[in-house]
Amino acid sequence: MAKRDYYEILGVSKGAAPEEIKKAYRKLAIQYHPDKNPDNPEAEEKFKEAAEAYEVLSNPDKRQRYDQFGHQGLGGSGGYSGGGMNMEDIFSQFGDIFGGGGFESFFGGGRGGRRTKKGTNLRVKLKLNLKEIANGVEKKIKVKRHIIADGVTFKTCPSCQGSGQIKKVVNTMLGQMVSASTCSICGGNGQMVDKRPSEADIRGLILKEEVISINIPAGVADGMQLSMSGKGNETAGGIPGDLLIVIEEIEDETLQRDGNNVVFDLYVSFIDAALGSQIEVPTIDGKVKIKLDPGTQSGKILRLKGKGIRDINGYSIGDQLIHVNVWTPKQLSKDEKQILENLKDSDNFKPDPGNSEKSFFDKMKEFF
Ligand SMILES: [Zn+2]
Repeated sequence: MAKRDYYEILGVSKGAAPEEIKKAYRKLAIQYHPDKNPDNPEAEEKFKEAAEAYEVLSNPDKRQRYDQFGHQGLGGSGGYSGGGMNMEDIFSQFGDIFGGGGFESFFGGGRGGRRTKKGTNLRVKLKLNLKEIANGVEKKIKVKRHIIADGVTFKTCPSCQGSGQIKKVVNTMLGQMVSASTCSICGGNGQMVDKRPSEADIRGLILKEEVISINIPAGVADGMQLSMSGKGNETAGGIPGDLLIVIEEIEDETLQRDGNNVVFDLYVSFIDAALGSQIEVPTIDGKVKIKLDPGTQSGKILRLKGKGIRDINGYSIGDQLIHVNVWTPKQLSKDEKQILENLKDSDNFKPDPGNSEKSFFDKMKEFF
């Protein structure tokens, strides 16, 4: 088959200026671009033909040889007499033709196909108490989400032809540049509502309250964000956004969280501390009785193993630490004072810390 004349392919005259050649090629490249003509061999052929013509006519040296000798003049050098340019070559040329972003940004998607549109994410706060955090919990939460109403049909946006973007070629000092902006008619969806029931808005959406059940794993912490994919707002021609659940920890009245441990401040009378006692303490799972040995010192830390919070990774579980504080009476009756006065000089009441009484600092080191 005889090769067509390059000027004829681009539809320009023999004396066309470089800018005119570029403009003509840009028009053809858009017209015959494979993304716009899927499974159309004829368009692909035209696309390649135009690319080849431009490759030659945009190069002053090649253009001169072509003008003088025709297709023969290019024969041995570039393989143009054979199968023409391959697609890679053609696309690599586009940075020059279409400005910095190249052809991909021109079409708003790229050759791999249009980017999938995603609905907006919803964010809800979820308050959890210590018990729920420690053990994990299933929660039902009410969410108002935009969903596509029943009976809605869609059509391709006539303004952007489904690309979701409007392109403008603007003249700048650096030459022609292409700017893309979100299509204002379809809001970037590329699709528009064709028919919709009366209760749906212009996007075909209705606001619907849904109860969503979510399993909160044990060990979450304040500020942590869980994500349920596809439970956010729906959008025409795309996939739904996500539901983001932000954890808020409700402070416990008696137990303090410290990582995966919980800490309880226990106050005992010095009588109980001296004589020993059974004392009830709160834990995450209700009250338990602990034994206080006779002679327990203030500052002692008792450990309830495994009574803490399960690690979010599930492999370990924290403890409950009980910090013993011996309570010193703030006021005394005359009789009480007398009893204590009588004990004042008793040797057993004189402080005598031995090696077994570690400092508070040493005790803390033992635990953390
Ligand atoms: Zn549009």
